[in-house]
Amino acid sequence: MFGFDLSDDHQAFRELAHDFAENEMRPVAAHHDQTMKYPWEVLKKAHELGLMNTHVPEEYGGMGLGAFPGALISEELAWGCTGIGTAMEANGLALAPVLIGGSHELKKKYVAPMMDELKMAAYAVTEPGAGSDVAAMSTTAVRKGDKYILNGSKMWITNAGVCDWMFVVAYTDKGAKHKGMTAFIVEAGWDGVEVGKKEINMGQRCSDTRAVTFTDVEVPAENIVGIEGKGFLLAMGAFDHTRPLVASAAVGLAKAAMEYAIEYALERKTMGRPIAQHQAIAFMIADMAKDIEAGRLLVWKAAWSADQGRPNTTLASMAKAFNADAAHRIASDAVQIFGGYGFNTEYPVEKLLRDSKIFQIYEGTSQIQRLIISRNLLSRR
Ligand SMILES: Cc1cc2nc3c(=O)[nH]c(=O)nc-3n(C[C@H](O)[C@H](O)[C@H](O)COP(=O)(O)OP(=O)(O)OC[C@H]3O[C@@H](n4cnc5c(N)ncnc54)[C@H](O)[C@@H]3O)c2cc1C
Repeated sequence: MFGFDLSDDHQAFRELAHDFAENEMRPVAAHHDQTMKYPWEVLKKAHELGLMNTHVPEEYGGMGLGAFPGALISEELAWGCTGIGTAMEANGLALAPVLIGGSHELKKKYVAPMMDELKMAAYAVTEPGAGSDVAAMSTTAVRKGDKYILNGSKMWITNAGVCDWMFVVAYTDKGAKHKGMTAFIVEAGWDGVEVGKKEINMGQRCSDTRAVTFTDVEVPAENIVGIEGKGFLLAMGAFDHTRPLVASAAVGLAKAAMEYAIEYALERKTMGRPIAQHQAIAFMIADMAKDIEAGRLLVWKAAWSADQGRPNTTLASMAKAFNADAAHRIASDAVQIFGGYGFNTEYPVEKLLRDSKIFQIYEGTSQIQRLIISRNLLSRR
């Protein structure tokens, strides 16, 4: 059987997320953009409704939703506001490698409490000198008895200033390159963990992004996620689940931009008729609609493949690159359709353009997605 109809459950999640985006996110999106205030109140309500940490298994108090329903929710939340959406979804990124590779004890200690009350987590891999090139990282964890001593710095860590714990990757054996990286859960309150100031970003401004420094932090050996030497695999493996969700968020932003553009193009008149009747404008809107449809299909296939346990790394990268690039183009075209008003903060589309840019950068840049896609294709020959 083949079809695109959603199940009743999927439809219900989608509607729940859409109503939440419309009633709880959109009304405060501009406020949080301007003030950069972390959206605790919105997150509290989202947590109560079960819109956060959706892939945590039932065993740990979650709903155990797959990537596909996660993507449906992610699109709707991003339609509401991607700044607030990123604050929510960053939890999912930190949780993903722990759910894949963490011990039952770690999940009970760090994951389950996140279902009882609103707690945030962060995924700390990027460093000042190591973003796309993860192997260039210099953070180290040196074994000392039943502990590891962690030293180094991380950069651009979402939720760093508001989290209870971080998923951290460090070298335990630098000589072994990728195979010498180990992942740990590090509590934010431990001695030697220091978070920097909240970064002032171009878009998604209420999301909390900071540098983190580790100075002689003592990490118990039981806080290793998985086993020593598997940190790189876990950190990258998480993206198979999360990239379709980021891609879906880009679809949600693009859809919002297109809707605003259509509404404005039907209202605004030049040369005696609505600008929607000028072919140059109408075709821009047609391009938006076709890219949104195509992008959503890619997301659905990438997410569905993840849920089937099929290899989806290439599809996840395709979905992420396609939709990140499309969202940025569509948001820019929406500004164009608004003309001078599009450039002004009184109208919603300039925020969408600023917010859209990061989709091409975080969770692997658009160039890195193409690198993954091309390597996977070319290595088969
Ligand atoms: C707001 C924000 C939130 C973030 N959140 C997190 C987080 O929660 N956790 C985390 O660990 N990180 C996070 N990041 C970091 C993010 O993932 C990195 O910024 C990203 O991976 C790029 O790394 P970089 O900034 O070091 O750029 P670089 O790796 O230095 O890249 C610079 C440019 O060179 C290009 N480039 C690099 N290598 C290649 C290549 N081999 N081929 C072609 N082009 C290449 C890149 O595409 C880019 O255009 C966040 C970043 C931002 C800005």
